[in-house]
Amino acid sequence: MSNVAAIKMKDLCWSCKQEIYEKDYFCHYCDAVLPGETKNVFETLGVKPSFDIDRNKVEKLYFSLQQRLHPDNFIGLTPLEIQFSEQHSAAVNNAYTVIKDPLQRAENLLAVNGIKIPKDKSIQDADLLMEIMEVREKLAKSNGLTEIEKIANAVEQDFNQYLNELSDEFANNNFIKACKILTRLIYLQKILDECFQKEREC
Ligand SMILES: [Zn+2]
Repeated sequence: MSNVAAIKMKDLCWSCKQEIYEKDYFCHYCDAVLPGETKNVFETLGVKPSFDIDRNKVEKLYFSLQQRLHPDNFIGLTPLEIQFSEQHSAAVNNAYTVIKDPLQRAENLLAVNGIKIPKDKSIQDADLLMEIMEVREKLAKSNGLTEIEKIANAVEQDFNQYLNELSDEFANNNFIKACKILTRLIYLQKILDECFQKEREC
């Protein structure tokens, strides 16, 4: 009976009492807004959990869901449905923001696969630690916009290179390697932000 786990749990629509899938936003029979269950960001938008995404498709799914959940459609809805709509709408907004951002998308994709990014502030990877310290030192000593821009460009180049590597590791389901690269990317992003901050202060 190995297929049992693959079958989605069924429930009844609160409005028409027909059988529904727990994960659905709307009842297929009476169109009532359903409570839905806590979903990961990929399920929330209805996209396959993957690192490489079709941006157009994600955008279309987002806008079509937001259109259906929009307050303009609240007329004639029960307070319960309005509450569900608002909850779904907030979840859909959040999922869209997360999925559009490569680092947040990667973090959520790892979570879907049971891997959590270590949240403690200390860097375990000695090479990474050295790299970060060197760039920070350069940035601290830098003078003028041109110098800061040069540092930022180099960091950005690194960032893009590791982003490509991250995509490859995810494509090969190498989640442990992906986790390591993502940690590096999170630090590179922080340094980039510091560069931009310093540029603004120039
Ligand atoms: Zn129904």
